[in-house]
Amino acid sequence: MSPELVTGAAAMGARSRAWRDAGHRVGLVPTMGALHAGHAALLERARAECGRVVLSIFVNPRQFGPGEDLATYPRTLEADLEIAAGAGADLVFAPGEKDVYPDGFQTTVSVDPLTRRLCGASRPGHFDGVTTVVCRLLGLVRPHRAYFGRKDYQQAVVVRRMVADLALEPEVVVCPTVREADGLALSSRNRYLSPEDRLRARAVPASLEAGARRFAAGETDPAPVLEAMRKVLAEGADDVDYVAACHPDTLEPVARLVPGTVLLVAARVGPARLIDNRTLA
Ligand code: AMP
Repeated sequence: MSPELVTGAAAMGARSRAWRDAGHRVGLVPTMGALHAGHAALLERARAECGRVVLSIFVNPRQFGPGEDLATYPRTLEADLEIAAGAGADLVFAPGEKDVYPDGFQTTVSVDPLTRRLCGASRPGHFDGVTTVVCRLLGLVRPHRAYFGRKDYQQAVVVRRMVADLALEPEVVVCPTVREADGLALSSRNRYLSPEDRLRARAVPASLEAGARRFAAGETDPAPVLEAMRKVLAEGADDVDYVAACHPDTLEPVARLVPGTVLLVAARVGPARLIDNRTLA
């Protein structure tokens, strides 16, 4: 069945209130659209756990920096509605900018210092945009559970921190990364890759694999492991943004690799900035 499409903030609030009053558990999957199988997996998880499932689609201007891809970010509502229907969403909330940021809006939600490192260091203001919009969406949709992908590892940690710090209601559920057969994590930004870029993009998951292999072989000093990862990444990427080994919750760099340490990478391949991560076993 096709999901209901709602664009207004008030209509969304009324829908959610009615569901909650009727005793349904509401699940929210926030996205920027251009849906792929990674988003569908979040929806399917929500479908399995919640009586009512909302997919939000909003390309949030506040999380793009100057010179980033806000203008060219893929907008594919028709195809998104089909994927949402296939994955069992009850409602697609696609608000306009004024529904999310009405006149007079003044609040910024900032999680600091968690957002200073990694993607936060190279994308100033990005996470303030993310936490502000997620907070607003949680207020409009009032879900019992909100679903995020592990692909955006720092984002998931930051959202968890915000929800705990502000004593917000929803349980944050973080779902595994969905990958292509060759290991590349699905991303809306993969659409920017030419066939030649797409081949070079294999260096991103390959660098994580190289790091995990060094650890499995007994290396616990982060320096040589990160060096090996950087080398593999540089073979395919045009620019390496970061290669890091971090504590899974604080995202502080670790002095020793242990099971549970997270390896994270970010790099540019052609026009696309790609990120990925892997937990050491
Ligand atoms: P986006 O629309 O790219 O902002 O992503 C919306 C949500 O989908 C975020 O919670 C992402 O972490 C999640 N997501 C994106 N790509 C994947 C993937 N390959 N596997 C799992 N979740 C993903």
